[in-house]
Amino acid sequence: MTVDDDSDVLRAIERDLRSHYGAEYRVLASDSPHAALDLLKQLKLRNDGVALLLADQRMPKMDGVGFLQEARELFPEAKRALLTAYADTNAAISAINDASINYFFLKPWDPPEEHLYPQLDDLLEDWRASYRPEFEGIRVLGTRWSPRSYELRDFLARNHVPYQWIDVELSANDPETSRLLAALGPEGANLPVVLFPDGTKLLEGVPADVAQKVGLRTRAQTSFYDLAIIGGGPAGLAAAVYGASEGLRTVIIEREAPGGQAGMSSRIENYLGFPSGLSGADLARRAVVQAQRFGVEILAPQEAISVRTEGSYRILKLADGSELSCHALMIASGVQWRKLQAPGIDKLQGAGVYYGGGATEALSCKDEIVYVVGGANSAGQAAMNFARYAKRVVILVRGESLSATMSQYLIDQIKRTPNIDLWPHASVAEAHGEQHLEEISVLCSDTNKIERVPTNAMFIFIGAQPRTDWLGDVVERDDRGFVLTGPDLLWGGSRPKGWTLDRDPFLLETNVPGIFAVGDVRHGSVKRVASGVGEGSVAVQFIHQYLSKV
Ligand SMILES: Cc1cc2nc3c(=O)[nH]c(=O)nc-3n(C[C@H](O)[C@H](O)[C@H](O)COP(=O)(O)OP(=O)(O)OC[C@H]3O[C@@H](n4cnc5c(N)ncnc54)[C@H](O)[C@@H]3O)c2cc1C
Repeated sequence: MTVDDDSDVLRAIERDLRSHYGAEYRVLASDSPHAALDLLKQLKLRNDGVALLLADQRMPKMDGVGFLQEARELFPEAKRALLTAYADTNAAISAINDASINYFFLKPWDPPEEHLYPQLDDLLEDWRASYRPEFEGIRVLGTRWSPRSYELRDFLARNHVPYQWIDVELSANDPETSRLLAALGPEGANLPVVLFPDGTKLLEGVPADVAQKVGLRTRAQTSFYDLAIIGGGPAGLAAAVYGASEGLRTVIIEREAPGGQAGMSSRIENYLGFPSGLSGADLARRAVVQAQRFGVEILAPQEAISVRTEGSYRILKLADGSELSCHALMIASGVQWRKLQAPGIDKLQGAGVYYGGGATEALSCKDEIVYVVGGANSAGQAAMNFARYAKRVVILVRGESLSATMSQYLIDQIKRTPNIDLWPHASVAEAHGEQHLEEISVLCSDTNKIERVPTNAMFIFIGAQPRTDWLGDVVERDDRGFVLTGPDLLWGGSRPKGWTLDRDPFLLETNVPGIFAVGDVRHGSVKRVASGVGEGSVAVQFIHQYLSKV
């Protein structure tokens, strides 16, 4: 970057720099030091590198040395050089000593082959030797204990959007963080701040805005589909792959991120074909690629909020107010974590209290004591995952052991892991902390005493329930909200109320012809990845039969 208030000199130096360095470097020219500093701030926010700053010494308002000193605060590694008239030679020499200027050039510099390029080559060579290219993706600035930062990081991670996390509190003493905050100015207070490689930023970033910015699709391309699937967990993704590969125009509507609950699993070891297991994130990524290869449209984050029928059309209303219609609708909306009812839990959610896998948080728990609440496989997997980073992991279970609730292979792994402890007969009575979780009170049912223990991180895995209220009174559910399908709808041999077809509902069909339910959301389902995938694929066969008569 070169700065000179004299437009003739600026044009000349810019031309010489471009002709010699234009193929390798971007050359920026500015006629004012203040405008140049603003430009440097933008470059900082874009994570660009600056190799060289070349400023004229004599400029009104701010001289060259002043500019280079301020610019150094933002880009300390950039080489700094002055352009001076002969009369300013002394000032330039003292600037080399006092203001860490690397070099000064005398005007005019003709011929540049002799008086400019050799010296600049030298400076640039030097700069290049120590330059490490910056991270090129999205950067998120926030704090560990902010629920909004957590929500955003979790969203990016689950949607496989690469990002760099900068904890402004933890890295407060890091010079690069200070430079970034200086470049942001007062806007840096609106955390989480999301910086994009194109130089734009989002203050107090929320998933929906970031999704739009990174090109995740939230709006449907057309208004009609052969098959619309609610939920992008294993069941929904499997249905989409089978449906689209067999020619159905298919859309998935997913509220958070494709992968569903499985996407939160740190290691799935019982899914056929992966003898050494695979992470849920990996499974989700593979399934998404496979679905997209067959032309499946995935809208995420996007939520279905109601459904109605009009003749053979099933019409969905989405959270952004738009509607789309389809002939066959598949409910694959799975289950969500049950909330732990205890004082302090809601207040500290996202700030030390987390539901589910918390893969995003695992690294932050390095050398800490982590509490995992629950005794099912999901809790066991999470404990194994946290044990890789945390000093100690304590599993709290109400019962006296894990044997009734967890698979034996996980119980064995946990026993072999020295930094995992089991705390039986235990339940969380209260969570304490002002800004973030600091302690929990644990009720010990064998002694009837309450113990208060310090911790910064508690992960809750206490079972799940379907969230199917959005189906209104269109689709029949059991008393816990699970969707009834096939034979479960036949009471004493009679078909469901309002059923008009001269056949029984298909195996995975609901009380509304053409609306199907698969996976964990279905009454009586086996809550496993493989069974969700199986149901999703099998249902497509019934959908073909249904569509052949629509
Ligand atoms: C931590 C953990 C570990 C596990 N480990 C294993 C394991 O090792 N092996 C195994 O077999 N099983 C495991 N399971 C269980 C397995 O993940 C589930 O059985 C499986 O994911 C169910 O798949 P699904 O597609 O039916 O539903 P889900 O995976 O629950 O997916 C449903 C999706 O629907 C979306 N959704 C819900 N409502 C709406 C709406 N209104 N609009 C749009 N989208 C909506 C949700 O955001 C979600 O992404 C684990 C579960 C967890 C939580």
